Amino acid sequence: MRLITGKAKLLGVIGYPIEHSLSPIMHNAALAEMGADLVYLPFEIAPENLEQAIQGFAAIGIQGFSVTIPHKQTIMPLLSEISDVAEAIGAVNTIWRTEKGWSGTNTDAEGFLAPLRSRQKDWSQSVAVILGNGGAARAVVAGCVELGCAEIHIVGRDAQKLDAFSQSWNGLLRLKVRSWETLPELLPRADLLVNATPIGMSPHVDKSPLTLKEADQLKAEVVAYDLIYTPNPTMFLQQVRDRGGVTIDGLEMLIQQGAAALQIWTQQSVPVDTMRQSLREYLGLN
Ligand code: NAP
Repeated sequence: MRLITGKAKLLGVIGYPIEHSLSPIMHNAALAEMGADLVYLPFEIAPENLEQAIQGFAAIGIQGFSVTIPHKQTIMPLLSEISDVAEAIGAVNTIWRTEKGWSGTNTDAEGFLAPLRSRQKDWSQSVAVILGNGGAARAVVAGCVELGCAEIHIVGRDAQKLDAFSQSWNGLLRLKVRSWETLPELLPRADLLVNATPIGMSPHVDKSPLTLKEADQLKAEVVAYDLIYTPNPTMFLQQVRDRGGVTIDGLEMLIQQGAAALQIWTQQSVPVDTMRQSLREYLGLN
């Protein structure tokens, strides 16, 4: 049985809604394994209550928390310190307490990178194609910059949003924004293809961002990465597997961004396998 003493400290995740969050499962599994006197709880906080909630968190001595939709950007002005990577991404997903107040960073890029780094491939000549230009795509761009990809193409459907995306990475010459119509020319060149749209997410499990004909254009050795974690695998990843390509699912990114956050809060090494196993069991995978 897990021992929670009178000295126990609190961690958590804020969002609105929050009931579908998988974070409490993996974090509490890890904390139990670590023997830490810490508990991780979900907090549903409506946007209009955010500022008051954060003040309350300071008052009751919460150690740190994760941030999910819709608070990842709106919380930024309430923090006393923001890391460079979170500034570049334009969103914060991990917060901890310091003497000055709340500090924030974004561990999504690190989470995205972990399964790619473990492949020990030289990405410096590679072409990354990212489908979607939302919040997650920004973390993916930060990750691709860190990997050293030679070209980073962002594919979107809204010219105005693509323009804004491009301008916000002002000076990043490797980054090009593209319309979906350019896919036939991009796909045969892609070494890394990332789905950062919700296309194919449960319950729309029979959808993929690619048609079968488009999937046929991919290189045999392409690495396809879907940020979606349910279903597992998605139709997109299945299309690539059927053609012999390498696939990475969004569950690993979720686990690794959480592990990076837990490392910040506890300053201890984190049992990533326990986090992975707890989620796979909960989701009925294996
Ligand atoms: P978001 O900010 O809403 O962005 C979604 C992007 O997808 C937007 O660019 C949107 O285009 C595009 N899109 C949506 N439906 C489309 C369609 N039918 N055709 C073409 N483009 C479409 O969402 P997000 O936060 O970036 O999340 C994107 C996905 O990543 C979600 O599935 C989310 O669950 C997943 N995710 C996973 C992790 C993880 O840890 N594994 C972390 C974060 C996000 P418009 O802007 O034109 O609408």
